Amino acid sequence: MQGYVHSIETMGLVDGPGTRTIFFLQGCPLRCAYCHNPDTQKRVGGQLMTPEEIVRTASRYRTYYGEEGGVTFSGGEPLLQGKFVYQTLKLLKAEGYNTCIDTSGFGNPQYYPLIMPLVDTLILDVKAFDQQSFKDLTFIDGFEIYIDFLKNLDHYGFDGQIWVRHVMVPGLTDSKEAMERFVRILRPIRNKVDRIEILPYHTSGVQKYQELGIPYRLEGVEPMDKDRAKELEIYANKLFAEDLRKERAEQEQRRIEKFRQLKEHEVASPDEKAEMFEILRGLPLLSDVDEEDVEAVLSEVIVANIKAGELVFKTGDAPDFMYLIYEGQMKIFVNTMDGEEQIFYIYRDGDFVGGLNLLVQTPYRYIGQALTDCKVVVIPKYTFDKYFWDSPVVLRSVLVKSFERIRWAEELIQRLSTSNASMKTAGLLLKLVKRLGVETDDGIRLELSMSREELGNYSGLRRETITRKLGEFKELGYIELEGSRVIIVKDLEALESYVM
Ligand code: SF4
Repeated sequence: MQGYVHSIETMGLVDGPGTRTIFFLQGCPLRCAYCHNPDTQKRVGGQLMTPEEIVRTASRYRTYYGEEGGVTFSGGEPLLQGKFVYQTLKLLKAEGYNTCIDTSGFGNPQYYPLIMPLVDTLILDVKAFDQQSFKDLTFIDGFEIYIDFLKNLDHYGFDGQIWVRHVMVPGLTDSKEAMERFVRILRPIRNKVDRIEILPYHTSGVQKYQELGIPYRLEGVEPMDKDRAKELEIYANKLFAEDLRKERAEQEQRRIEKFRQLKEHEVASPDEKAEMFEILRGLPLLSDVDEEDVEAVLSEVIVANIKAGELVFKTGDAPDFMYLIYEGQMKIFVNTMDGEEQIFYIYRDGDFVGGLNLLVQTPYRYIGQALTDCKVVVIPKYTFDKYFWDSPVVLRSVLVKSFERIRWAEELIQRLSTSNASMKTAGLLLKLVKRLGVETDDGIRLELSMSREELGNYSGLRRETITRKLGEFKELGYIELEGSRVIIVKDLEALESYVM
């Protein structure tokens, strides 16, 4: 594995926090009119280096990095050499280096989910603030791609800080209106933005164009006035801070509103709550609450009655509450790009959802909807932080649950991609047996809260296919059907043979 490295700067002070070694990587799909390094745009060039050589080079300067410094990948567009950057970051992280990537968001998306969790600081270049200016400036009709990149950073697992940079060209973005558009673009990432910097356009790169024989598209444009750029940088930062404050206030308002709605659904009296809590204390999640804290916890949690079909939470909801199902069933799903519903899990008594969201402070990525009438214990974040956060038992429960979900998601991917309809149906029935099965003299009874369509959404099959397959399994004597909501599994082994 080797990457093309255009050049290396040691002791860099501006491309990320502290003192850093900067590796400028070769290749960039954009053609910015003001690019100072047009020689980095070609994908091939510079010197070939292995990830190990990068780490060795970085290690020579490690003593200068101090607390904050480390290694930066710039370019060019470093994310274009995704595999190489991923392999190198892995090695750097294993040795405890602080990492930074300077990007315009036009790399190889396949590697984003691998790279992003390994990045401490992202220097994000914002070229322009609308589609047409983006195209005029970069020669690429890629504004939407860029916005998608910003929106998905969380999803790719990026959990560091962002430094936003914009090169200001006179006549293009040197106005207050432009700064307002700029700040609006940053909304999807605003919780991660640490600073916004305006770099005044200058003409010192023109010489390189002459040497390379490339026409310079900003010929005749004067350098950006530094004082004016500073003024607009201050304006953008103020706007951003205001926007952030507004968003936080709105978020708080949404939390209060959600709390109020849940409170309206509150069903249990303090006595009933105490009784339920006693039962729930059998669960690891609540077993660690100190006896003297029980009353305080009980006064803060809500026991909500959720009617079948009601949404409990939806994609994008802030991590303000976690939900523990006391009674009933809830489906957790997403709507896919084709408008289909993909059910991930069916949760029931004793299951909980949202613990990891509270721990790592990420919004909900899926939708929770009651399949049957449910009683749900809602634990607000402040209660969780006060009484649960530092309990090893709670952390363990949340981890175990998260691990189960990863396993289940892996199995789901495997099942959807490699199984035929019989295997998917058998797999689904076995899952349901595990979750809902009740042993009876007639066989294992499954009382379903899901329609045939939802069963299909759970297993990756169309409603007609699942109905047909269940009919076939009935003919074969593997199951019996009682109406549309009860299945009795008669031959577990036969079902298991499909998924072995
Ligand atoms: S993104 Fe950077 S390297 Fe690529 S063309 Fe623009 S300025 Fe040059």
